[in-house]
Amino acid sequence: MLENFEIDLKAIEMDGKSFSYSLEDSFFTDLEAQDITGGHLDAQVYVKKNAASYELYLHVDGNITIPCDRCLDDMIQPVNADSVLKVKFGPSYLDEGDDLIIVPEDEGKINVAWFLYEMIVLSIPIHHTHKDVECNAEMMKILMEHSDQNFNDEDSAVANDNKVDPRWSDLKNLLNNN
Ligand SMILES: [Zn+2]
Repeated sequence: MLENFEIDLKAIEMDGKSFSYSLEDSFFTDLEAQDITGGHLDAQVYVKKNAASYELYLHVDGNITIPCDRCLDDMIQPVNADSVLKVKFGPSYLDEGDDLIIVPEDEGKINVAWFLYEMIVLSIPIHHTHKDVECNAEMMKILMEHSDQNFNDEDSAVANDNKVDPRWSDLKNLLNNN
């Protein structure tokens, strides 16, 4: 499935070419995405050919499913992101993270799946939560109780910081049962 995201650069004519993809849950499963559990997005890649390089204009638009910061239940996060990559041919593959990718000249191909995924991950706001009323009420109650107790037990918690607090084990069990 991820081989569908491979673009043959040598087949690009001077007037460039556009590619469209649908990113569904399987896209994130295939990439073994850690935090994104699913999604439904449209992606476009426009490849522009220059004299000695290519420019890839990437665009994604849609929704992903990620855990809420506050209650840890799944939430829907809208995504709308753009990115530009410069690609050149060279002796071997090189991605130094500065948006210039070197692709082996004898292969002449680039797979854009990972770049689309990276774009989506970078677009997620640092704080992402449900609207207040949509958070998992049961979980919020437990988290609230824990934060109160932790506040009151601050001194003893410092003294016992090598022991695992049994209340956190309870919470972990609860999460695992979800
Ligand atoms: Zn929530």
